[in-house]
Amino acid sequence: MKRRWLFALGAAAGVGAVSAAVARKRRDAARLAERGRKLAEASAERGKNIVILGAGFGGFNTASALVAALPPESGWKVTLVDRHNYHLFTPLLYHAATGLVEPSHILFPVRTLAHAPHFQFREADIRSIDLKERQVHLDNGPLSYDILVLALGSVTNFFGKEAELENVLTLKTTGDAVAIRNRIIDAFEDAESAADPMERRRCLTFVVVGGGATGVELVGAIRGLTRDTMGRQYPSIDPAEVRLLLLEAMPQILAGVDPEFGQTALERLRQAGVEVRLGSAVERVDADGVLTSDGDVIPSRTVIWTAGVKPAPVVERLDVPKIRGGRITVDPFLGVPGFRGVYALGDVAASIDPKTGKPLPTSAAVAVQQAKALAEILVARLEDQDPLPFRYIHRGELVSLGRHEAVADVMGVRLTGFPAWLMWRGFYLSQLFGFKNQLGVALDWTFAYMYQRDTVRMDLPTEPSHQRPLAEPAAGS
Ligand SMILES: Cc1cc2nc3c(=O)[nH]c(=O)nc-3n(C[C@H](O)[C@H](O)[C@H](O)COP(=O)(O)OP(=O)(O)OC[C@H]3O[C@@H](n4cnc5c(N)ncnc54)[C@H](O)[C@@H]3O)c2cc1C
Repeated sequence: MKRRWLFALGAAAGVGAVSAAVARKRRDAARLAERGRKLAEASAERGKNIVILGAGFGGFNTASALVAALPPESGWKVTLVDRHNYHLFTPLLYHAATGLVEPSHILFPVRTLAHAPHFQFREADIRSIDLKERQVHLDNGPLSYDILVLALGSVTNFFGKEAELENVLTLKTTGDAVAIRNRIIDAFEDAESAADPMERRRCLTFVVVGGGATGVELVGAIRGLTRDTMGRQYPSIDPAEVRLLLLEAMPQILAGVDPEFGQTALERLRQAGVEVRLGSAVERVDADGVLTSDGDVIPSRTVIWTAGVKPAPVVERLDVPKIRGGRITVDPFLGVPGFRGVYALGDVAASIDPKTGKPLPTSAAVAVQQAKALAEILVARLEDQDPLPFRYIHRGELVSLGRHEAVADVMGVRLTGFPAWLMWRGFYLSQLFGFKNQLGVALDWTFAYMYQRDTVRMDLPTEPSHQRPLAEPAAGS
């Protein structure tokens, strides 16, 4: 009897919850339709275009939020442009570089938004932007805009030393990740057959330049790959022969975060056998290895440069107000001062943190929050309402240092070791776009944890798609 009552109560609660959800959906749809009608009235000419340049954390999230907030009836169209037809989840790039995840599992197709009739995607290389004529020049034609969002991200910064840095690897794209993985595998193959012990040592020395979060996480992941998995696959190589170095020009790693947090990460890396050199700038990298500012030569074949970023070249060429380092100055509403209807966010923009008076760091966390805020700002302005300014909420730091090792400082709670490592994995898994990718990464991690990482050398073409030749005109046209 009691069980029957419980069942009836549960069923009633279920029906209630479903009806409430249906009613909420209907209310939202009605609100959206009403907003569409008002927007169509407000913007007399229909067919206005919001052009978003870059499908990274800033651009893709702005596009998704706008497509959801602007009904098709509003007459506004959202056009997203990128040289790739996918969004790259950079926080797991170094997992792709060290055989922990399949590279395609961190790519999300941007055309998933194409179900919305007012969304358009253009796969193209952006050559230049004419802010006076309100036009973007793409490699496959011009594109006019009424509102422009600059979200082109950043590129590796060599600080003018390109000529002195021969053969260094970088970590910004999936092609870079595959190139790093291949170089590590080649180094082990060559070390195994090297007759000269010096050459064997050179092959087994891996140097990461730059002690920011990317460098720290990458060196931790290389440690896992080279000491654990490769140790088992190359029995003639003693894992103790592998030398890992992290070079940082500043007196601390993870600059910009709480120094105590950086110190904990430093100690943990050193305990794990990584040689961390502070105050050690790189003068030159050539076929022999690395020459440091203190005159030391580190023989190595694998040097990975993660020492800094600068805004994308298209933005570098743009004549708009900028701060030192080239990021675009933006107002509290993410607008570019002096250019009506032009907005910037993510790594190309310098939003000032009102608490410190300094620009916010370049990070996915900042770009995602800016994207959500910008979509609200744009919709409010289109509806002739006063928008709220962008405010960044800092939720903490999470840095992985390798297998079972991480440091976390989330809302004042500090964790290290296994609990921090679990938190890191749970957090980034939850942030990945798409259930297929989440499942793929979860399975990759499980397989790597229980068996081994993927150490197949991938001979993939790594040319960026923007190097493809321009389409030939069709015969007879
Ligand atoms: C290895 C690595 C690990 C990272 N880990 C973290 C992390 O754990 N947490 C965190 O918060 N941040 C992390 N970051 C930083 C984070 O990736 C960036 O801050 C974030 O991606 C910035 O977002 P964005 O939208 O400005 O640029 P991006 O996400 O880089 O997107 C820019 C887009 O513009 C496109 N583009 C650029 N130029 C052109 C052109 N001329 N034509 C066509 N398309 C173009 C690019 O293809 C790209 O899709 C990491 C970065 C790297 C490289």
